[in-house]
Amino acid sequence: MFGLFSFSVVMTPLGPVVSVMVSVAVDGPYSYRVPEGMVVTRGSIVVVPLGPRPTLGVVWGEPKDNFAHNRTKDIAHVFDVPPLSEELLRTIDWVARYTLAQPGMVLRGALRSREALDPPRPIIAYERAGSPPERMTEARARVLSVMDDGFPWAKPALIGASGVSAAVVDGLVKSGALRQVEIPAPPPVLPPEPDYAPATLSAGQQAGLDMIRAHDNGGFSVALLDGITGSGKTEVFFESVADALVAGRQVAVILPEIALTHTFLDRFEKRFGQRAAEWHSEMTPVQRARVWRGVLTGDVRAVIGARSALFLPFRELGLLVLDEEHDGAFKQADRVNYHGRDMAIVRAAMAEARVILSSATPSVESRNNANIGRYAHVRLESRFADAALPDITALDMRIDGPEKGQWIAPKLARAVFDALDREEQALLFLNRRGYAPLTLCRTCGHQYQCPECSTWLVEHRFRGVLMCHHCGHEERAPDVCGSCGATDSLVAVGPGIERIAEEVATRFPGARTVVLSSDMGSMRQIRDRFAEIARGEYDIIIGTQLVAKGHHFEKLSLVGVIDADLGLAHGDPRAAEKTFQVLTQVTGRAGRESRSGKAFLQTYHPDHQVMRAMISGDREGFYAHELEVRKQGGLPPFGRLAALIVSGNEHLEAMGYARAIMAAAPLAEGVRRFGPADAPVAMVRGRHRIRILVQSPKEFDLSGYVRFWLQNSPPAKGNLRVQVDIDPMSFY
Ligand code: ADP
Ligand code: ZN
Repeated sequence: MFGLFSFSVVMTPLGPVVSVMVSVAVDGPYSYRVPEGMVVTRGSIVVVPLGPRPTLGVVWGEPKDNFAHNRTKDIAHVFDVPPLSEELLRTIDWVARYTLAQPGMVLRGALRSREALDPPRPIIAYERAGSPPERMTEARARVLSVMDDGFPWAKPALIGASGVSAAVVDGLVKSGALRQVEIPAPPPVLPPEPDYAPATLSAGQQAGLDMIRAHDNGGFSVALLDGITGSGKTEVFFESVADALVAGRQVAVILPEIALTHTFLDRFEKRFGQRAAEWHSEMTPVQRARVWRGVLTGDVRAVIGARSALFLPFRELGLLVLDEEHDGAFKQADRVNYHGRDMAIVRAAMAEARVILSSATPSVESRNNANIGRYAHVRLESRFADAALPDITALDMRIDGPEKGQWIAPKLARAVFDALDREEQALLFLNRRGYAPLTLCRTCGHQYQCPECSTWLVEHRFRGVLMCHHCGHEERAPDVCGSCGATDSLVAVGPGIERIAEEVATRFPGARTVVLSSDMGSMRQIRDRFAEIARGEYDIIIGTQLVAKGHHFEKLSLVGVIDADLGLAHGDPRAAEKTFQVLTQVTGRAGRESRSGKAFLQTYHPDHQVMRAMISGDREGFYAHELEVRKQGGLPPFGRLAALIVSGNEHLEAMGYARAIMAAAPLAEGVRRFGPADAPVAMVRGRHRIRILVQSPKEFDLSGYVRFWLQNSPPAKGNLRVQVDIDPMSFY
């Protein structure tokens, strides 16, 4: 392992002028002078003056230009940390080029902790010094006996272990019996132990692991671990984690959902005897700093985190695991529009590391790569310990639908009663937060809309508000119609999970119920709810996608999907795939322990290809069909897509600008352009949104094309903006 001052990095000093990538929104690196006595190399983290402000940056290499060096400013400071690795710098360049983001903004994602760059503050501790004090009390004696182990003790630990007050310790210091010393801060986590508690793999799991190992060439490779929920994929990739650790390399497991981290950390600790370091947006700056620095120095060997962990400063990255690799949450959609799965593959390729993509419902893209042999295709066919897959039934809402004013069909209600009788748990799934997606006035027809977005306001009855799910706008739920003033005239249209909870309360009055969605409190509160469910403290769970992911509840034997069609209707080429994935995941929650589970899909389209695949359990048929559809349409993974979103305060102006961009489009063979057209959600946060969609053949450099196109388009003036989304995942 690397101690702080033993970086195994060959420093090739650069100078006297170098290029520095600053972590702000600029297009490329700037030149700076290396002052006398300072040594920097490619990857050194520095502070440079940028305009009036000192700015964090990274030495990128030799300067591009060779003139005007007399006017270049000096690098202000170089931090005493190892330089960022070559592979990370190349990943940053690649991501910027591919996504058309500014490299400085991508770099900012890698420099997420400013505090980490300062030396960690040492810990004040005490050790025995010379002879015992002249005045010996019982309390003093206790302290000294604790310290008989001869090690330095930090004050809080010493007080805790000897049960004395701080004054006693201070008195011993004053009397000269104890001496204050500084000890280095401990690493954030201890190294995991690869052979701490390996699982005994089933024959199927072992075969999968053998296949993963057989594909290990010591460098870059990708394996798709494709197995139904509960088939034991985690146990298999844990063995690959162990292999990488034994080989002296760092490992990261990337999860789509922060709420899953804790369960996963516990599982990791059971397997490896130590906790992995965690990395996500809910950590404190101090925690972040310790992990970031530990990753950079090599003290941290394993990280479990969100997609931003892909940009951590690993030095010896050996394995990236993406759990639930199909999950749309891996796509980041703010300043830098990258897809975590694709970036994991890029980073691993740069680092000569391995990738394991794990999923019960792989993305169509990954399945295609496995089919054509680009990825090793590792299948786990059966559930561990022969737990059965749930028996899935479609409830045709046109025939078997619920009574007016209800959302739970009679057959599903019957099954809930049966589960309650057997003292098992039922999950009612609806991927819509709040009480109702629309509030309408019966008298005048007024629909409550967001003032800033072209969306309906969703009623959240628990909190008594109407809320926009796009911009967060909230207003108090009204009693009288804001448009015509009619009283008792407002109706809620359609269900959200709160409304299902209301129905459950009246129809299953004795049942203990819990409602769970991402807006229901902090990560800790949600974690507590999950733990309570796992302990069987609830009979009926009502939840959104949050409960569909990863969790595993022993007593859960019934899943009812309130609206299986939700998500099928959009102009999204992945609508069928996404629906198949979420339905498979949520129904897979039923019957994970050896009891057999049941699932019901409430649908108006029981003959839809997705519903048929669900009911017959024909996942292979689903993938084959979906791949064929994509091939016919030239859609991913057989073609490429990019979206340009033009936005502005005035519709006319934004549309005019979008037309001007369209008119500047370079011709290229096989490239098709659609639009400009108002986006399905035509206004967000007061800005009008206009879409242009570009489709190209697979082999085509679509990023390069769009960059060239925009360089040759009129520049965005005033409040106008163009956002580029290469490989868009959402089409709203
Ligand atoms: P997946 O990741 O494919 O959904 P998991 O790895 O979570 O499946 O395994 C499902 C359950 O079976 C878990 O409770 C896990 O601990 C258990 N399990 C899987 N493989 C083994 C094994 N080889 N030995 C013991 N328990 C196992
Ligand atoms: Zn809004």
